[in-house]
Amino acid sequence: MPPRGKITAPGPVLYPVCGTAQGIYQHRKHGTPRCAPCRAFNAEQTEQIKRDIYLRRPRLVPARGSQRRLRALMAIGWPLEEMARMWGIGRTVLQRVLHPDTVKVSRARAELIEREYRRLAFAGAGPSARARTWARNRGFPGPMDWDDIDRQEREPVPGYVIERDHQEALVIDRAVKKMLAKRERRSRLTPADRQAARARRESAA
Ligand SMILES: [Zn+2]
Repeated sequence: MPPRGKITAPGPVLYPVCGTAQGIYQHRKHGTPRCAPCRAFNAEQTEQIKRDIYLRRPRLVPARGSQRRLRALMAIGWPLEEMARMWGIGRTVLQRVLHPDTVKVSRARAELIEREYRRLAFAGAGPSARARTWARNRGFPGPMDWDDIDRQEREPVPGYVIERDHQEALVIDRAVKKMLAKRERRSRLTPADRQAARARRESAA
C-alpha cells in the first residue's frame, strides 16, 4: 500500500464518487493515488478554509438550519441515504448533523445542505413515499411550511401539500431554462446576425 497522506501522483478517475469528499475517502481507504477531480476538490476545500481563516469567519455554524432543511426534504420524500448518495457524502455524516446533541456543523457542510435544499425543496416530491410518511409521522415541517427556515424560532405546524411529482417539476424546470437560454441567445444577436438568420430562413423556404 502506498504511504497515506502525501499522495500527489496523478491517477485515473477510479470511483463514481470521485470529485467529492466520498472520493477522497475511497482513495484513502484503498490507498490509491488521488485522481485529478479529487485533487481539485481537495484544493477547493483547502482554499475555502484559508478564506474563512483570512476573513475570520467561524468554521462552525449553528446546526439548526441544516437540521431543519434535512427534515423538510425528508418530509417531501427524500430519504437520507438518497441525499447522501447524491451529494457524495456518507449517510452517517447526515445522521450526525441530525442528531439532537449536534449544535454546530462545519460551514462547508451547512453550505452544501443549503445549496442542495434550494435545488430540491421546491422542485416537487422526492422519490420515496415511505420516507415522506415516516417524516410526516414525526411531524417534520416541509419546505412550504417555513416562513424563515433559519431565523424563525417556532417550528411551524406541517401542512404542506406537494403539488407535483419531482420528475414533472424537473421537466418544467428544464423547459423554463431552455426558454430563458433561447431568449438570452436572441438578445445577444447583432442586427447583422439577425439579418443573416432571416436570409437563411428565406432561402430554406
Ligand atoms: Zn478520485
